[in-house]
Amino acid sequence: MSENKERIKCLIIGSGPAGYTAAIYAARADLHPVIYQGLQPGGQLTITTEVENYPGYPEGIQGPQMMEDFRKQAERFGTDIRWGLVTAVDLSQRPFKVTVDESNEVFAESLIIATGASARWLGLESEKKFNGFGVSACATCDGFFYRGMNVAVVGGGDTACEEAHYLSKLAKKVYLIHRRDELRASKAMQHRVMKTPNIEIIWDSVPLEVVGDKTVTGAILKNVKTGQESKLDIEGFFVAIGHKPNSDLFKGQLEMDETGYLITKPDSTQTNIPGVFAAGDIQDHVFRQAVTAAGSGCMAAIEAERYLSSLED
Ligand code: NDP
Repeated sequence: MSENKERIKCLIIGSGPAGYTAAIYAARADLHPVIYQGLQPGGQLTITTEVENYPGYPEGIQGPQMMEDFRKQAERFGTDIRWGLVTAVDLSQRPFKVTVDESNEVFAESLIIATGASARWLGLESEKKFNGFGVSACATCDGFFYRGMNVAVVGGGDTACEEAHYLSKLAKKVYLIHRRDELRASKAMQHRVMKTPNIEIIWDSVPLEVVGDKTVTGAILKNVKTGQESKLDIEGFFVAIGHKPNSDLFKGQLEMDETGYLITKPDSTQTNIPGVFAAGDIQDHVFRQAVTAAGSGCMAAIEAERYLSSLED
């Protein structure tokens, strides 16, 4: 390692709930953490509106404000929060070489990966326009706002079915829009959806456009078999066509499942490389909640601290 390169005790990649919580714990343990915020500082919560299920905010809070609070708390204990996108890592030896913005190389004695996952979107302009105003990719986060209304969920996998079922308890009617004539979801999930009276499956259909004024009032659908177009009157439009973990950077170096989620040891955030920990949505395809991400960020910092101390023994 070149003498004049910066050496960081605990480097955290990603600035969502997992990354910031790891930073709060690491800073308080004197690990002098450095965070590289990535492309979307604050993570997925910065693209949601109100968060009402994070404990400690009895009146709810706007997602961007909550992440601002996380950032301030991490800073208060001395976290060095930096702009920058990690573009390469070399985990073959310690300290780990981390390249930021293609050119700046730093070296990390321990690494916490909290790069999260991104919801897959359909790619419609109107979907972007109404994001947070009727369009959402998270029923658990936003379902509450659609009490007694008509909503649609797009997708045919377990997530779509789970979201449709969750929404069926709040909304008046849930349309599940799927592009084929059979669901991809597990049989158990399919049964659950089929036997819920206020869920209607719209088969062989894809949304062409989300329509509305300030908020969503409908969606234009196309039947892929007949080519026929129709308008569905809805107030909420949930996209559930899968998530993509942001793990491309680690391919070939860290163990991941077929979808790209990093694999950690049971009850731990430890990856297959000692000193490298993974927290939050990058390693969790099941819960994907801010509070669970924060919990695993805390675990990662405690494990990094124990790992670094064990090297000194
Ligand atoms: P999946 O990849 O399983 O399903 C995605 C769905 O979206 C598919 O039905 C797919 O259609 C559809 N889709 C993809 N792209 C488009 C598009 N551009 N336009 C329209 N539709 C599209 O993702 P999930 O998030 O549902 O699940 C991911 C993993 O997590 C799975 O292994 C799942 O089993 C697991 N999971 C398990 C849960 C549980 O056990 N409780 C809950 C949630 C997820 P098509 O079928 O035609 O490809």
